[in-house]
Amino acid sequence: MINVKQIPLLSDNYCYLLRDNETGAVAVIDPGDAKPVLNEAKRLGWQITDVILTHHHYDHVDGVAEIKAQTGATVTGPTKDTHRIEHLDKTVDGGDTLTFGSQTAKVFYVPGHTLGHIAYWFEKSGILFPGDSLFALGCGRLFEGTPEMMWQSLQQYLSLPKQTVVYCAHEYTLANAEFALTIDPTNKDLIQRVAEIRKLRSEGKPTVPSTLDEEFKTNPFLRPNDPQIREQLKMVSATDAEVFKEIRLRKDNF
Ligand SMILES: [Zn+2]
Repeated sequence: MINVKQIPLLSDNYCYLLRDNETGAVAVIDPGDAKPVLNEAKRLGWQITDVILTHHHYDHVDGVAEIKAQTGATVTGPTKDTHRIEHLDKTVDGGDTLTFGSQTAKVFYVPGHTLGHIAYWFEKSGILFPGDSLFALGCGRLFEGTPEMMWQSLQQYLSLPKQTVVYCAHEYTLANAEFALTIDPTNKDLIQRVAEIRKLRSEGKPTVPSTLDEEFKTNPFLRPNDPQIREQLKMVSATDAEVFKEIRLRKDNF
């Protein structure tokens, strides 16, 4: 099994320490800053052996150089970002398998937020690290890709087991929740989830991780085929990709 430690860093990022209990190998996913990660690993008595990256943005990679220098960790990132991520020792692409310690993860290619973006699914442990492709009640902004591309990417998550635990990379949930209510105002699961999110944030607690089941029921970016959402957007006969595009556009202007 894997132990997961969530580390808040920068203004609203989460990065993750993963310990493979069989071998003691420890991976850090998307360290946007080195110090909080090295401090937490030291506190836990965990030796970082691997750095795993989802995409090239500074708030996911800026800690890599120092962590690698201090620990000698092996750095793995997206094949398509080789030209713009430094310190990579290995690269993986969609369809590949990532290994650290005795653990393996399936790699999904999920372009849209960036063109090189990948995600990691540890099937046996039932955990997903989507980086900035999927958020609790949201999805990543489309800095480099198209809405059609992002919708293709997100559909890969729809076939995963619904009990999968989703460790996304930002605490954006409250703002996402306010937006989701404008798209899907009569969804009872959403209304209940938003109440829970407001309570957690008022107590300064994280809303991440969530489960795919919660996201399937309440995240408008995974629900463009929902009849009530289509009704709300007056897009009853549009394609899923068209509805997704409209939801993304409205979020950009929210
Ligand atoms: Zn990003």
